[in-house]
Amino acid sequence: MTYEASLSFAQDQDQVDPLFSFRERFLFPKHEGKDVVYFCGNSLGLQPKSTSYLMQSELEDWAAHGVEGHFRARNPWFSYHHLFTERLSRIVGAKPNEVVAMNTLTVNLHLLMISFYRPTSQRYKIIMEAGAFPSDQYAVETQVRMHGYEPEDAIIEIKPRDGEHTINEEDIYTAISEAGPSLALVMFGGVNYYTGQFFNLQAITAAAHKAGAYAGFDLAHAVGNTPLQLHDWNVDFACWCSYKYLNSGPGAVGGVYVHEHHAANPKTLRLAGWWGNDEATRFKMEKGFVPKPTAESWQMSNAQVFNMVAHNASLDIYAKTSMAALRAKSEKLTGYMEFLLRQITGLSFTIITPHNPAQRGCQLSLLFSERGREVFDKLTAAGVVADWREPNVIRIAPVPLYNTFEDCYRFYEVLKNLG
Ligand SMILES: *Cc1c(COP(=O)(O)O)cnc(C)c1O
Repeated sequence: MTYEASLSFAQDQDQVDPLFSFRERFLFPKHEGKDVVYFCGNSLGLQPKSTSYLMQSELEDWAAHGVEGHFRARNPWFSYHHLFTERLSRIVGAKPNEVVAMNTLTVNLHLLMISFYRPTSQRYKIIMEAGAFPSDQYAVETQVRMHGYEPEDAIIEIKPRDGEHTINEEDIYTAISEAGPSLALVMFGGVNYYTGQFFNLQAITAAAHKAGAYAGFDLAHAVGNTPLQLHDWNVDFACWCSYKYLNSGPGAVGGVYVHEHHAANPKTLRLAGWWGNDEATRFKMEKGFVPKPTAESWQMSNAQVFNMVAHNASLDIYAKTSMAALRAKSEKLTGYMEFLLRQITGLSFTIITPHNPAQRGCQLSLLFSERGREVFDKLTAAGVVADWREPNVIRIAPVPLYNTFEDCYRFYEVLKNLG
């Protein structure tokens, strides 16, 4: 596609964008009375307008029914988590029995590692990306210690090559085959939060399996952003949060995927609570955990309803389109942003996110060699919401659900005038 650095070009693209009207479904923060240019959906997505009504309905149902709301609420609380199954499974490319909305991301990562990191004295190593999100680093480090191993020995981190900003995928496969029989698990981010690099989850999974290890992914920055086919890719497990691209509000409920051949296998170890037990016997209050043969067996507690209302609102919006349609727009929109950034002279930054659309989602990370913080502050003052990562990176995410080509152009104009 040929791009032009002009407002009229951007507006023309918005006119023909089949997803343009989705923007109307979200609430935008204001700056000097006008909607901000919001490029921070990678950190916290915007509020769906329908959230307020749905929240109010839930409060009314609680008031009207008390405990009976478990069965009589418009969305009965007893099975509230089932509201998400179908829609989530489509977003991550899984079967409905392979997903569940529960807990929060880091908690879920621990629960899944308890099941899928079962080290032995021969096979105890974990491969992950260097510079993973700190919470993931802490989770892996403490899991390793919990089993009596030393992180320096048990964790193999894959770094970018000297002078490069992103990881060469060949280095991942080489490390996996070198670790071979000592490798227990490959645990990678789907999209690296800092560089925006989207990894080849299918190839990583195949390489891990070839080495006799499991493959699991933290999809915080991939879910609702990049195409995912977790089931077909044979991924063992994955987890994500829903407050980034999934627009479900601060601290909203996370999500989990477990491949059905693990979930249905009663020998797969999992920490249990009553909500993971077979529904037929859950209320018999008997001894002996009988896991549901689905990802829901990792649930411990009953659904955190008020933390799931916005998730419901947001997934309704996703259900009105498809990841394929979002991805088609996303590639154009991010491509346009990249094109505009390349027109800027007089500011010294490098786009460290891969240029190849297959290796990125909608986020672009700009590494500044000088004036980074100043540029960021000036963007903020001009009504552009971006994200600053120490020491010198500005991340921007043109989100296909609610961002426009004009948003990209407005961002470009601010930067151009700073150059
Ligand atoms: C956002 C994010 C988290 C946050 O974890 P919470 O448990 O939801 O607080 C963890 N890991 C990654 C990779 C993230 O991007």
